[in-house]
Amino acid sequence: NVKLEQFPYSEAVKKTLARKPALFINGAWVDSTGGETLAVIDPSSGKEVSRFVDATNDDVDRAVAAARRAFDDGRWSDLPPMVREGIMHKLADLLEAHADELAELEAIDNGKPKGMAGAIDVPGAIGMIHYMAGWASKLGGETIEPSATPRGAFHSYVRREPIGVAAQIVPWNFPLLMAVLKISPALAAGCTVILKPAEQTSLTALRLADFLNEAGVPPGVVNIITGNGHTAGDRLVRHPDVDKVAFTGSTEIGKLINRTATDSLKRVTLELGGKSPVIVLPDVDPAVVGPGTAQAIFFNSGQVCVAGSRLYAHKSVFDKVLESFSEAASFWQPRASLDPAGHMGPLVSDEQLNRVMGYIEEGKKAGASVALGGDNPASEGGYYVNPTVLVDVTPNMSVVREEIFGPVVVAQRFDDLDEVARQANDTSFGLAAGIWTNNLSAMHKLAAKLKAGTVWGNCHGMIDPALPFGGYKESGLGREQGRQGVEAYTELKSVIIAL
Ligand code: NAD
Repeated sequence: NVKLEQFPYSEAVKKTLARKPALFINGAWVDSTGGETLAVIDPSSGKEVSRFVDATNDDVDRAVAAARRAFDDGRWSDLPPMVREGIMHKLADLLEAHADELAELEAIDNGKPKGMAGAIDVPGAIGMIHYMAGWASKLGGETIEPSATPRGAFHSYVRREPIGVAAQIVPWNFPLLMAVLKISPALAAGCTVILKPAEQTSLTALRLADFLNEAGVPPGVVNIITGNGHTAGDRLVRHPDVDKVAFTGSTEIGKLINRTATDSLKRVTLELGGKSPVIVLPDVDPAVVGPGTAQAIFFNSGQVCVAGSRLYAHKSVFDKVLESFSEAASFWQPRASLDPAGHMGPLVSDEQLNRVMGYIEEGKKAGASVALGGDNPASEGGYYVNPTVLVDVTPNMSVVREEIFGPVVVAQRFDDLDEVARQANDTSFGLAAGIWTNNLSAMHKLAAKLKAGTVWGNCHGMIDPALPFGGYKESGLGREQGRQGVEAYTELKSVIIAL
């Protein structure tokens, strides 16, 4: 009963928002077996704009059964790889044809500026599908001779086969990109999928379903289930007909899922949280490094797993770097997601707003000083937080140790490379790190010392489909993207024949 006329949305988006809540199972829109729905809230206004299904256990079971049938009868994995590849390219082309609508949906659902969604999320998703599509026809096994028998006595080789049915659970910070990042390698490998988007942001995953059908992905190959994590997500992870679980989200839920899934020895990949250090060496021009390090934390309102949330600047340049950083922060003043002048939107939800403000208060109580922001801008509704810098922090404060997932950076000084490597590695996370210097030798020495799955030099957040991505320590398990990302959806089989 939402009155959509009151919102400044396009007609295409209003049409999607006005749809009856449904699930995408076996290539068709179906009703839930229960009557529960959840609200789509636009974080820029805090208002409800649509509803979607909170899937029941029966709904999840139907989706898994559809994926199981679609895998077992080979309707996808037995297609010529080049045909699968072609269907995937077509899917990417359909996303491209609807790029503006998808960017708007993402802005309304997540709160990110439409301009950012249009420049980063949607093209990123399209590129990911094109890249992964290529693997469908390139994956293969190996011929390996036995090592302990006379030559020619046996013919042996290693086949690479799809794992089977993959349950994929994604978070709310890059909803479309995360959904596509999960389904693309699975499709390239020949698997079938049940995808569950986050309960805060289900719109673009649901719209993706339309394009799957239009591209010619056979029914049951990708099924999309919306709903709560502790119910629908948990049911998926426990389901005996699921062969692999791929999860992106918090470390807390990742650990829980890992325990549940490995109980039945399902294959598991996890992409979890981070507290990534950004290190500024004394040789760099503070005027250059200010905008780069500000973008590292404020892009997507800091709701990025690789956000550069711990800034370490050499003591000789600390004050100048902080000055340049604070100036650059003005670019990231929060605005409504459909405001074309905006670069940073509100946080995704009321819950996230309270969490981030809670951390800032906790930091202040523990003795941190606010060098910038720390408050909310004046707004009518909406979950806005100003870009925030905390200084005078100590290594044991929660704001230094825990992932805040908001536009909040803690800034610290250091003396030499060994000290900053120790400080940077003094965390349970290990997802990413950034180094800013023109000193080649220092750059490579530090890159080797940092315990992180990705290290950036003189940039931050540069993620490419061809490069493996994942975390050391409690930031994850396994790698996504690149060859490794698609191989994570395969099993190896050795075949040994006596001749
Ligand atoms: P979350 O862990 O609360 O939720 C993520 C997903 O898991 C949602 O779809 C949710 O419904 C589902 N879920 C929740 N409980 C579940 C359960 N018991 N069983 C099965 N599924 C369950 O995380 P979030 O708050 O949505 O996302 C933020 C987190 O994601 C941050 O920690 C961030 O660092 C992390 N993240 C990591 C990466 C990466 O690639 N490493 C990328 C983006 C986000």
